[in-house]
Amino acid sequence: MSGDSSREDPAAQPRASSEPPRAPRPAWSEFRAALEGVGFRPSRQLGQNFLLDENAARAIARDAQVESGDFVLEVGPGCGFLSVHLAHAGVHLLAVEIDERLAPIAEDFLDPYPNARVVVADILESKHSLNASVLSDLPPEGAWHLVSNLPYSVSAPVLALCAGLECPPISMTVLIQDEVAQRLLAGPGTREWGPLTVGLLQSFIPERIRGLGPALFWPRPKVQSTVVRLTRRENLAPAEDRRFRSSFAARLLRQRRQSLARVLKDMFRSAEKAGQLLESRGIGGAVRADNLTPGDLWGLAEGARGLGWRPEES
Ligand code: SAM
Repeated sequence: MSGDSSREDPAAQPRASSEPPRAPRPAWSEFRAALEGVGFRPSRQLGQNFLLDENAARAIARDAQVESGDFVLEVGPGCGFLSVHLAHAGVHLLAVEIDERLAPIAEDFLDPYPNARVVVADILESKHSLNASVLSDLPPEGAWHLVSNLPYSVSAPVLALCAGLECPPISMTVLIQDEVAQRLLAGPGTREWGPLTVGLLQSFIPERIRGLGPALFWPRPKVQSTVVRLTRRENLAPAEDRRFRSSFAARLLRQRRQSLARVLKDMFRSAEKAGQLLESRGIGGAVRADNLTPGDLWGLAEGARGLGWRPEES
């Protein structure tokens, strides 16, 4: 396998002293044969790029900072290349795979680990909701972690929907396309700053962990990938308030380059209310919507709610 283009070398990470060595994974050719046996061709739509590099998969399981007894949801185990390291760490693993040809391959590979369970399901019930039956299998109070090499097609909705849960997970450690990672890590005023960033920031503190080059995957993706760890904030606002703020911010950012006075006037259909809101928050009307800090956004959202703005109105 050719070299990793990441800034950090996954192989250089020390093995946790509590983790006994695991027998090396069977050769890729064995998995290839099993995949061919079920007529598998990787689907771009399902983001089927498997992480062949064992060191990288092990490193991601460590990046997640999960411990024996923790509960982990993995979206898209594929053949189980990341799952096996999580299972080996002793977590209770629920791995949700949409492709029924892959699930038995992952199940076979994870057979030595009774703490790992693979289910065939779509993690999304719709564009706007996570699979309710999967959610009902997770511990209450968000006492679980999401760890996943997320399929590109669903990475943004899965992260946003987890962040919008009444009790979001303790952490989310995800391997995603670099372009999505940049959106999670963006600051106000940048091109990447947008509804996804703002929504997630209410519930999580994001941190870039490492980059991974295309050569570590089969088939090779056309883009770089990045591991991001999101840690749940303490003292979260109730989910309803977080959703209201997200809707307010998303509406503002639809006219991101316009002045706040203009955008708020459109939203309230009233220049007077727009002016009243800006004055109450001490923010100038000439400020551009995408230059607001999260604190200013939340303050404006509260004020807008007090003045009767509702998401469906605009
Ligand atoms: N975890 C494996 C690895 O690292 O090698 C596979 C990761 S691959 C990027 C994404 C996996 O997610 C694929 O196995 C794909 O079939 C699965 N997948 C795609 N969409 C899904 C969905 N909506 N729900 C559950 N799994 C999905």
